[in-house]
Amino acid sequence: MTQAVVLFGSPGSGKGTQASLLKKCLKVPHISTGDMLREHIRDGNALGVRVAATMHAGTLVRDEVVDCLVEERLAKPDAQAGFILDGYPRTREQAEHLLGWLDARNIRELVIHLIVDYNVIVTRLTGRRQCPRCGTLYNTVSNPPRVEGVCDLDGQALVIRDDDRELVIRQRLAEYESQSRPLIEFFREKGRRLFEIDASHQTPEALLFQVCRTIKNPAVEG
Ligand code: ADP
Repeated sequence: MTQAVVLFGSPGSGKGTQASLLKKCLKVPHISTGDMLREHIRDGNALGVRVAATMHAGTLVRDEVVDCLVEERLAKPDAQAGFILDGYPRTREQAEHLLGWLDARNIRELVIHLIVDYNVIVTRLTGRRQCPRCGTLYNTVSNPPRVEGVCDLDGQALVIRDDDRELVIRQRLAEYESQSRPLIEFFREKGRRLFEIDASHQTPEALLFQVCRTIKNPAVEG
């Protein structure tokens, strides 16, 4: 059985952190559309150049572009036993595309909605710092590095991701409210397996425990 998990939630809800813990536990790849797009920007290839301005403004990249990226990624051998989607789908069109893809392969997905208070989200996003070399994420409030401003793993000076600047954060949250949040209702209407977990105040490890329990025993948790 293919283990298909969709982590859903606002920017800053902790999807990325959960996905990277969860992939070790499920042994399936973590597929983040944000990471894939940033990789294209870093490579400086044609796709990267096309999406850079959109991402820096905090608006959404075109559906066809992300649908295509995700499909290509899901076709790779390491995703055949399962995958964790993080940051996809984000629009109605993307959700329809994904559900069509899953249904055509008889794969039953599990959508996990991480619910987080708006104020907690804003604090998390404005405090987010990242190592430009190894990608490790920190937070000045909830998960600071041992030495302020410096990566624990490789000593690099931490940076604020371009789309973590305040105006852009507001834009990303607005995009989430208008385009992505309505998908919760969409998944419900379509009778898909949807689990909602309060993720505002738990540590990532405690949350992981709950997420794993839900994945292993969805009938009981539901
Ligand atoms: P966050 O969830 O914190 O906003 P991501 O890394 O998931 O961060 O996304 C960063 C940016 O990448 C988004 O603001 C958007 O521009 C682009 N992006 C990522 N995933 C998608 C998607 N599924 N559809 C459209 N744009 C996307």
